[in-house]
Amino acid sequence: MAENPATDPTARTEHLRKLDQDHVWHPYTPTDDYLAAKPLVIDHGEGVYLVDSEGNRYLDAGSSLGVNIHGHQRRELNEAVVAQAAKIAHTTLYGMTHPGAAELAERLAKLAPEGIEKVLFLESGSSAVETAMKMAFSYWVFKGQPQRNKFVSMTGAFHGDTIGALSVGQMTILKNFYQPLLRETSAFAQPYCYRCTLCADNCTLACADTLEDVLAREGDQVAAVLVEPRVQNVSGMVVARDGHLARVAEIAKKHGVLLIADELGTGFGRTGPMFACEADGVKPDILCVGKGLTGGYMPLTATMATGEVFDAFRGDGKMLLSGHTFSGNPMAVAVALASLDLFEKDDVINHGKQLAVVLAEELAKFHDIPHVGDVRQCGLLAAVELVADERTREPFDWTLNVAPRITERCKELGMIIHSAPSDTIVIVPPLAMTEEEVRTMARILHQATSEVVAAVQAELAAAATTEVPVTVTVPSPAESQAAEPTPA
Ligand SMILES: *Cc1c(COP(=O)(O)O)cnc(C)c1O
Repeated sequence: MAENPATDPTARTEHLRKLDQDHVWHPYTPTDDYLAAKPLVIDHGEGVYLVDSEGNRYLDAGSSLGVNIHGHQRRELNEAVVAQAAKIAHTTLYGMTHPGAAELAERLAKLAPEGIEKVLFLESGSSAVETAMKMAFSYWVFKGQPQRNKFVSMTGAFHGDTIGALSVGQMTILKNFYQPLLRETSAFAQPYCYRCTLCADNCTLACADTLEDVLAREGDQVAAVLVEPRVQNVSGMVVARDGHLARVAEIAKKHGVLLIADELGTGFGRTGPMFACEADGVKPDILCVGKGLTGGYMPLTATMATGEVFDAFRGDGKMLLSGHTFSGNPMAVAVALASLDLFEKDDVINHGKQLAVVLAEELAKFHDIPHVGDVRQCGLLAAVELVADERTREPFDWTLNVAPRITERCKELGMIIHSAPSDTIVIVPPLAMTEEEVRTMARILHQATSEVVAAVQAELAAAATTEVPVTVTVPSPAESQAAEPTPA
């Protein structure tokens, strides 16, 4: 007790935990569980490792929530922050500009799918999506169709968690809880092959075709369709087949509605190409990017648009009535430019593609573990979904806490990884990992999964012999997240 927090790591950790548990309110964290736990205090990063306040190292298999690309403490990125701080830390983009904003916008426009020319900077994914919604609505107002004020998105979609962004999200757990605060939106079916009820074994992309039904019904009221291209990351790495995005884009175009591609989760090489839209050759009208934009260093996102969308805002004193105080912060912009330099210098896109091959090899081994239902991957986004019954694909009783136990075991084994609803472990490695680190990541997850599955099987067997009912149906907080209802 008499240890000095200034010199003793354990005393310091306990001191910090107390300050935290007394005063920090943590996002998406069950309150009582957190207050009863001994939370990790991450002190610093080293490459693809996180180091806690007592010197323990953890492989960062979640890229610090999907943002880290080049590893932590990259000298080039550190230097970019320091160099910019020596010039100016913040100046506004309201009616003026700064060198970094002009240079970064030009580079992003070059990297983005053809047609995207304009870049509006923001500081969170949620605000990038909401700005896209305001852009689409304003576009139609200026085009003389103000009745186009509705949005359509996929079941299971996550587009951010402010109220506007939640309105276009379709994750059951969030939607149900916040329903009274949200705008009404329409949904079409997500491309969840493992739980598809539309095409049986012969995929015709019928999920994408449900957009046709929605737009046939209410298309003239719709401003835009929102889509997470190729992978719905937050709802558990739901991977679409080739051609899915192209079909969605074609249907949106046929009905004359705008297409908003939310690449917050998929941009900057996560799925293979720089942006996931490239794989299907899709040219969205509006593109939202963020997360990896600064290599995970600073909060910076962007809502990008075609010249055609931008031109609707010209003439008669028109403008986009939207923007935030820290939009285009020069420090964040400087580190984004340095990150794009690293993409070239380290050939990050090709390195990521090689790692994806290694990851696929490692993931193939997961089918050996009982109760592994689905293993899915698109580039360096992957997931392992566990089920109670591999044949019927019935989920585990959520009170068994299968996925959280696996992520907890990974932590003990020296790795930070996250789970999604419906017992899905999501794998989001930094693109800078080595092949060896990818194998280590997979090996730790394989071990943790095998151990937890064995423990769960033993508990279920013990419960069965003592005649305690184990499959009590408790309404899950994730509800039917495992199979978002298909819209009629
Ligand atoms: C992370 C994410 C968001 C929200 O970004 P925030 O910065 O957390 O507001 C929106 N859409 C997708 C697809 C995301 O992955």
